[in-house]
Parts: sequence; C-alpha cells; structure tokens
Amino acid sequence: MSDKKIVKEYSNGDITVLWQPHLCTHSKKCWKGLLPVFDPRRKPWVDMDAASSTKIVAQVNECPSRALSIK
Ligand code: SF4
Repeated sequence: MSDKKIVKEYSNGDITVLWQPHLCTHSKKCWKGLLPVFDPRRKPWVDMDAASSTKIVAQVNECPSRALSIK
C-alpha cells in the first residue's frame, strides 16, 4: 500500500476520528468551524480534548470529502 493512503486515528476515549489525508480537498471547513480541535499549524493537528464529542462529531460530518470521519 502506498504511504499516501495513511489513516490516522484520534480518540478521546469516547469517539475516534479517522483522518485520511489523501482524501482531503482543503475546503478548510474543519479548522474554520472548530479551530481548537482542528488546527493545521499544530502537531498533532487534531486535539480531541478541545471540544465535546458532540461538537467534534458535528464538525466531522461537515467535511465534504470524508477525509474526516467517525470510526
Ligand atoms: S473539512 Fe475535510 S476536506 Fe475540508 S480541510 Fe478539513 S479534512 Fe480537508
């Protein structure tokens, strides 16, 4: 498998967000909508402790490319 198909997982113990960078279309929706959690300037860029699970799920569902999804 090519390393372009990497899947990263970020969990807060309640929900797990899957990140598939090769699918991202750079719509910027995630970090414009919920910057404390999705901050592309930070490493790791996803902070699962920065908002409630409900808010994170709602934002992930806004991702148009499904690069972000809930496991
Ligand atoms: S919302 Fe989805 S497609 Fe848009 S930048 Fe974030 S991960 Fe990429």
